[in-house]
Amino acid sequence: MAQLSNDCFAFGDKPLSIDDAIEFIRNRVPIVAGEKLLPLTQCDGLILASDAVSKSSLPAFFNSAVDGYAVRQSDLSKSGDTRLKLSGRLQAGASTIPQLTPSSAVRIFTGAPMPHGADTVFMQEDVRIDGDYVILPAGLKLGANCRPAGEEIEANKIIIKAGTRLIPQHLALAAGVGLSKLFVRDQVRVAVFSTGDELVELGSSRTGAQVFDTNRLMLMVMLKRIGCRVEDLGILKDDPRIVRKALRKAAESNDLLLTSGGVSTGEADYVKAAVEAEGRLDHWRFAIKPGRPLAMGVIGDAAFAGLPGNPVAVYVTFTQIVRAVIAALGGETYRKPQFLPVRAGFSHAKKSGRIEFIRVTLEERNEGIFAIKYPIEGAGIISSLTETDGLVRLPLDMTDFQAGESLDYLPFGAMI
Ligand code: AMP
Ligand code: MG
Repeated sequence: MAQLSNDCFAFGDKPLSIDDAIEFIRNRVPIVAGEKLLPLTQCDGLILASDAVSKSSLPAFFNSAVDGYAVRQSDLSKSGDTRLKLSGRLQAGASTIPQLTPSSAVRIFTGAPMPHGADTVFMQEDVRIDGDYVILPAGLKLGANCRPAGEEIEANKIIIKAGTRLIPQHLALAAGVGLSKLFVRDQVRVAVFSTGDELVELGSSRTGAQVFDTNRLMLMVMLKRIGCRVEDLGILKDDPRIVRKALRKAAESNDLLLTSGGVSTGEADYVKAAVEAEGRLDHWRFAIKPGRPLAMGVIGDAAFAGLPGNPVAVYVTFTQIVRAVIAALGGETYRKPQFLPVRAGFSHAKKSGRIEFIRVTLEERNEGIFAIKYPIEGAGIISSLTETDGLVRLPLDMTDFQAGESLDYLPFGAMI
């Protein structure tokens, strides 16, 4: 566990690409989340704090992979059928393991320990039974249908790396190698508030030029989905004293303060000034659309991220940038989203020198999967995020493309 340095977001004045930002975050933002030992039943969705090491091997003993007959390969005829006497029966969980007597076969079931001396298992469908004898065809390879001890994992090997977000499969693996507890990170504590005199709470009546607060809800839900502990600080008025006080207080018991709105250069954008007064603010000259402006900073021991006010810009900056900050604070190994190639179902011209995200729906055609652009582009159009399937990312230096060209596509489901 480390402390955040005051200048951990001081990137300088260069325009930032997303890759630059991710690299910078990786190198500069320390893990602030503590760690604790928890039973596997409580570890789902948490970040592994130290490498998990297998206690026992998997499988822990030599066993049969099928229901069938265990034999010794050297008892088998190379050219024709072999007839062996049945000399016993072994079920999963058998407490004693017999020796395979020469020229005999043992009836065995999936998961049962192999008799000593046996090295091959015939599947029951492949043999014939004749009274107390089993007739086995030629040609089965040595070691067929059985699982040697440690075939999958040996004891004392790293099975899950520190920094991994634990999913049910990891927990099953940990249980399988004899672990019952894991060292995991504390959840990243995030305080969320909105700013703007125009904003009203959900459920209250809206009048005149008021707007329902949509960003805070979206942010809180996304944060919960990625395993954060969320504190809801509500809507703050555009009043410098109120904003400063709220930031100062929230910094005492959170790892990250997240706001939306109020970070532009307008006179009523008080968030930046408040962060500057209470700590340190670094403007990130982000070359992305939508997604500007983005302000990063530090107040006390907490990181600060001030997102733009428009909902689509909030979604893009959160999923592409803030997600990596949270990973760094929480000790999670950040994996960049895996964009997939799709074909453009439209042509488009853009400014060089910035990354653009376009909301698209996918359409399957004979020639491949095509991305169709949502007709309304504005950063304030929330329904452009609900009527589409995901985002297409246009690289920094691209200026235009024609229908049919390949584009990078990221489905919404792969982001959060
Ligand atoms: P701002 O960055 O504060 O100038 O806000 C830009 C736009 O986003 C304005 O139209 C705001 O009303 C809108 N906006 C800001 N915060 C929110 C919010 N929490 N929910 C919905 N819209 C917002
Ligand atoms: Mg505002």
